[in-house]
Amino acid sequence: MKKCKICQEEKDINDFYKSHLSKDGHRGTCKKCYVKKSNDIRKVKRTETVSDLDNKIKLIISKDETIIILKQRISELEQENIKIKENAKKIGMIAFEISKKNIELEERVKALEDRQT
Ligand SMILES: [Zn+2]
Repeated sequence: MKKCKICQEEKDINDFYKSHLSKDGHRGTCKKCYVKKSNDIRKVKRTETVSDLDNKIKLIISKDETIIILKQRISELEQENIKIKENAKKIGMIAFEISKKNIELEERVKALEDRQT
């Protein structure tokens, strides 16, 4: 007879699984308790895996959402960039017109100065 560590019941030695690690060659817990314990561990592992998967899926979804937001932001920035380039072009054209007029005015001033002398 052997006392189970979990249920504390005195049971026949055949109600315990064999183990090379223990002194009497049998596990400290009876077969019934051992099976229950390993089933509980398996259940915990299973729920852990499910929640792990769930977390991974959530992470992937949040990454996808981030990518979508970033893509939207990029297209917004590209549109802004186009506007900036257009404005820069306009400014460049205006600057060119101003410098052209400036040259014209300088020429006129020179012509007036030449006439005076
Ligand atoms: Zn037991």
